Amino acid sequence: MAIFKKREIENLEQMSGEELKAFLERLPAGAESMSKLIDHVEDELFEGECNHSLQYAMQYMMREGLDFPKVTAWLSKNGGYCDCKVMEQIAPQWRGKFGED
Ligand SMILES: [Zn+2]
Repeated sequence: MAIFKKREIENLEQMSGEELKAFLERLPAGAESMSKLIDHVEDELFEGECNHSLQYAMQYMMREGLDFPKVTAWLSKNGGYCDCKVMEQIAPQWRGKFGED
């Protein structure tokens, strides 16, 4: 039987202490940058549409000088294959844990 590995982000809500600290240390950018990236994607998708790429996420990464291979790898690993998936798969868990801002 194949073992289905849960996306790390799905466990975020239950994380605390050392586990949460380790999660934060493995992030490809600071937690604040990741929150702002999610906000940026949300704002852009309000105006435009997802074109099945991470164009808006990339735009933010470029502007802020984030390590985009690392950030996109992290987003994909957690189900955020494109901008709308970032909002669908990552934003709810992220905001549930770290709040809107
Ligand atoms: Zn999409």
